Amino acid sequence: MTEPKDISPESREHTHNNNADNGPQSSSSRLFLGLRRGFRRKCPNCGNGFAFGGYLKLRSECNSCHHPIGEYRCDDAPPYFTIFLVGHIVVPGVLMMEQSIKPSFGLQLSIWLPATVLLCLGFLPFIKGAVLGTQWAMRIKG
Ligand SMILES: [Zn+2]
Repeated sequence: MTEPKDISPESREHTHNNNADNGPQSSSSRLFLGLRRGFRRKCPNCGNGFAFGGYLKLRSECNSCHHPIGEYRCDDAPPYFTIFLVGHIVVPGVLMMEQSIKPSFGLQLSIWLPATVLLCLGFLPFIKGAVLGTQWAMRIKG
């Protein structure tokens, strides 16, 4: 006596495809897993391989599980979230400094302009990884 086999395209993809998504099926735990792995700049599918081949360049596929990372297109979401985050750090900093020690415009500019650039460059690759992890969790490609 044999059990009936599920031959739907979805079940075939998960059982026979090497590039099938790994991880939990619950959407919230899958999202947190993708975010955590992506923020560490690792492959969101396995968490072992590297997702990035350079500062911001995604690999075409994971070097560990061969998940096609290059099929995800983050576009301008990472810069948007980076500017949003850095703005919420820099603007209160400028205002607090202005309220407390009232520095000259030149001093404010010489502090906060480089800080803005460095914070953006520092956060951007990690936020791009998190966006990649979110796309993986929600199965958004292309
Ligand atoms: Zn992988």
